[in-house]
Amino acid sequence: MSQQPGKYLVTTFGCQMSFHDSQVIAGLLEDIGYESTQNLEEADIVIFNTCCVREKPERKVLSRLDEMKHIKEKKPNLIVGVSGCMVQQGAQLENIKKNYSQVDLVFGTHNIHRLPELLHRVIATGQQIIEVWDRGDEGEVVEDLPVRREDGLKAWVNIIYGCDNFCAYCIVPYVRGRERSRLMEKVIEEVAELGREGYKEVTLLGQNVNSYGKDLGEGVNFGTLLTRLNEIPGIERIRYMTSHPRDFSYELINTIASLDKVCEHIHLPLQAGSDRVLKMMNRGYTSSYYSDLVSRIRERIPGSSITTDLMIGFPGETDDDFKATLRMVKEIRFDAAYTFVFSPRKGTKAAHMLEQVPEEVKRERIIELVKVQNNITREINEELKGKTFQVLVEGVSKNDDNMLSGRTRTNKIIVFPGDKDKLLGSFVNVKVIETGPWTSKGVLDLEKEQRDVSK
Ligand code: SF4
Repeated sequence: MSQQPGKYLVTTFGCQMSFHDSQVIAGLLEDIGYESTQNLEEADIVIFNTCCVREKPERKVLSRLDEMKHIKEKKPNLIVGVSGCMVQQGAQLENIKKNYSQVDLVFGTHNIHRLPELLHRVIATGQQIIEVWDRGDEGEVVEDLPVRREDGLKAWVNIIYGCDNFCAYCIVPYVRGRERSRLMEKVIEEVAELGREGYKEVTLLGQNVNSYGKDLGEGVNFGTLLTRLNEIPGIERIRYMTSHPRDFSYELINTIASLDKVCEHIHLPLQAGSDRVLKMMNRGYTSSYYSDLVSRIRERIPGSSITTDLMIGFPGETDDDFKATLRMVKEIRFDAAYTFVFSPRKGTKAAHMLEQVPEEVKRERIIELVKVQNNITREINEELKGKTFQVLVEGVSKNDDNMLSGRTRTNKIIVFPGDKDKLLGSFVNVKVIETGPWTSKGVLDLEKEQRDVSK
């Protein structure tokens, strides 16, 4: 096996937490001399950073590992690694150990920081190295890991690891362990450094950011953290995800309303509109509690956008339960919703529930739900037309090289014509002229710029 650091390719499956873990993996590899590549042919090490929340990405990972077998026949020195949530599950780990000899290295979500040493052992011994820490080792929060962030503008910052909630369908508490908050001073240090480096926006990450600080002792909570971060020079926008409705206190709403850098976008997973299903899911709130929470948010933070996650086909979900979800969606009018079809994850409570909903029924329900939500999203976005928003210019539009792309504080994407060299990384005012379900089109509102300058 090659002794010289070469090029690496990290492929990520999953949520924002997985993407952030991939940035740490990249940072660790660059620290020991590896360079990034997107080209598999020139890579010396390929790492699949995996997810296990849903079944489909797991199948994808396994099929990518099958491909690697053929690639390694031509390129025997290629090091193939697998990391992330999927290998935290005993059964998948055993499967990889037994059936995927092309995999050289396996590590889990709790010991990413050990990657350089594990890689060294693969190179030195030529053996398959597997080190996955389970929840028994979860006590430590490892600080000061290098992170390779890509755009220099927006950064994700972990504030809490794990989850204590045990929603009946979710594997996360089993693979990511109990909640562990990072020390507030460490988070502040990291964000202050990002501000000095020129980053404009941070997104605070955690499975349940509202739980932040519960394990740190008195006086520290998510609100106090936001308040301190709001003072950091250079950082203009603060976002966070994911919020658990049960832990979103009225006090926190007031704190958020008072902080000018905290954006008016709240991702608040509802999951289901039926109280019966919410109870079976172990979500810890009712539909009326949720509605009341949204009303308070809208009252105290006017103009905020609210997005959600919705799950269809939880075991025992009846037509009436599904209708309750549709009713909630129509009543709340979410800006957008990520919709999922329930798939049983081994080891969770819901996997053993008897009344599994037939696939055909799930399919019909999700189609209907998506249709209803898309109409609402379209209608809400139509209201943006003719209005001007402050946008952080993030780059060139994915679909049109001549257009720039940016986001409003409420997390709406707007594309508009402009000079990349002049505007990238700056805040500009953009007037929306055309709307769509995902992206709106706009033009620079120079009059507004002028008005702001002459204020
Ligand atoms: S809050 Fe529920 S759905 Fe979210 S990570 Fe924790 S257990 Fe999973």
